[in-house]
Amino acid sequence: MIYLDTAASYPLLPEVKECLIHAFDNAYANSASSHTLGEQVSKHINEVRELLANEIGAYPSEIIFTSGATESNNIAFKSLLLTEAVKNKKHIVTTQVEHKCIFAITEYLVTLGYEVTYVKPNSDGLITAQSIKETIRPDTALVSVMHVNNELGTVNPIEEIGLLCFENEILFHSDAAQSFQKVEIDVDDLNVDIMSFSAHKVGGPKGIGAIYIRDLRHKQLTPVIHGAGQEEGIRGGTVAAPLILGFGKAIEVFQSYYSDFSANQIKKKFLEKLNFLDIQYIVNGINTLPHCISITFPNVDTETLIRDNENELCLAQGSACSSKEIEPSHVLTSIGLSREMADKTFRISFPLNITLCEIDFLVKELYKHQLV
Ligand SMILES: *Cc1c(COP(=O)(O)O)cnc(C)c1O
Repeated sequence: MIYLDTAASYPLLPEVKECLIHAFDNAYANSASSHTLGEQVSKHINEVRELLANEIGAYPSEIIFTSGATESNNIAFKSLLLTEAVKNKKHIVTTQVEHKCIFAITEYLVTLGYEVTYVKPNSDGLITAQSIKETIRPDTALVSVMHVNNELGTVNPIEEIGLLCFENEILFHSDAAQSFQKVEIDVDDLNVDIMSFSAHKVGGPKGIGAIYIRDLRHKQLTPVIHGAGQEEGIRGGTVAAPLILGFGKAIEVFQSYYSDFSANQIKKKFLEKLNFLDIQYIVNGINTLPHCISITFPNVDTETLIRDNENELCLAQGSACSSKEIEPSHVLTSIGLSREMADKTFRISFPLNITLCEIDFLVKELYKHQLV
């Protein structure tokens, strides 16, 4: 099986697997316990908190571990909006290309009386600061724009949008599930107040992630999960120590793999092979990450290609979360693709150990399934 869907989930890195096994065996005590073992676990968790904080230029006290980016996004919208400071502001700005979980959250907030503006990307798939600027109002409480889009791999101008929000004293959230460890992140340089992270997009385990909240301790946040006071009281439940340690190992090792991979210019080699065989294609989006490409093949019978290769190729048409629905991808339609062209589009996201041989296989299948 050739796995080309790392944007949906990255396979567990071997170092992380080893770390997890060790952690499940050894870090079993409850980190809230005051005995030696509990304190050891708590110390290890806080080392990962520090590691993550250092990676993004934050303080450890501004990091909360969550079950993943979906939960972090929930905290970003719900906990923050319910604080005194912004309670009377009822307008939210986000974009048409966010991860689906954002829409589920905003649709819920609409039932509580919030108004939401969904900014359209430009035809290159980017959200410009200007397009955000046009939507902000005196009652705008929150702007949320993802750092890297999960279907196109486009990197949004977060720094500029953050500056705009800073100047207008609006909270700024960015979903960094796709960008973390792939793009440089410094929360001060980017002017973000809140940021969401997920471990399984960088070779860590599923079910763990984090949220950065600027000056967390000075904010009276409403918990999303009421519990026994864990994680600054925002997120109750025994802290998932082994998963956090696995996340920490992924943070330690993923980047070095990724930089080797980037140097290999896999995407360029893939496109060269397509050119060589004269296979027509259109690349969607500009300013994209090196492991991810959204590509439309107008002259390929993509349906049959997928069917013929269901045991050979793992790749996404649209995003993984929506691929079982009949609707075309909301991201592709927002950048102007027709239903037909959206159906002929693949989101290919390479693993770090992809081989040229595997790329040859994909290209040959594309060649074989051209419409004549
Ligand atoms: C994967 C992903 C999510 C969801 O993350 P989980 O950790 O699986 O909840 C959210 N946003 C983006 C941009 C993603 O790519």
